[in-house]
Amino acid sequence: MSKCIVCLRDHTNTTIEHIVPRSLGNIHYILPKGTVCSNCNNRFARFEHDVVSSKPFIERRLRTGVIRSKVPNTEFCLRKKVLKLFLLKIAFEGIHRSRIKLLNDLNLEGIRLILLDKPISIDTELIQGYKPLHRLPNFIDHWRLKGSRIQLYLDHSVDDALFTFKYDDMSFTMDIKKAAHRRLYNL
Ligand SMILES: [Zn+2]
Repeated sequence: MSKCIVCLRDHTNTTIEHIVPRSLGNIHYILPKGTVCSNCNNRFARFEHDVVSSKPFIERRLRTGVIRSKVPNTEFCLRKKVLKLFLLKIAFEGIHRSRIKLLNDLNLEGIRLILLDKPISIDTELIQGYKPLHRLPNFIDHWRLKGSRIQLYLDHSVDDALFTFKYDDMSFTMDIKKAAHRRLYNL
């Protein structure tokens, strides 16, 4: 019997949870068996599928070797909500795995509640495209995926926690602290 890190229920699921979906090339960055229950695993699979099968990600997955012109903005906007959930889920699991003492600081309780809810609006900034980091991320070594072009960064300060997910030339940054806080206090 294990306790799910998301819903906190006891469960007997023994499947591995991929922090970054396998279809994006991740074979290393996983959580131990039993970390996430099958209910939560299935919930994540739904929005992961939506994001990973969206045009920008498919283009990268095909790896034609040619960077094409920008995907129309309209499509990106339609999928913004699931994309945010997708990124929050990766951030949540990654922080757990890293065992950084930020677990409480980052108010994971808020992120946990968002992940348990249906994909409703998450009011936080989401930046698409390359965003240069102003300083070296605090935990770059913990978050880099070896043997893959996927990278995760967490840049943490008193005021914010910028989580950046990079996949080839795509990059998304969001403030996970703000997302969790706003959800909790209905701001
Ligand atoms: Zn669960």
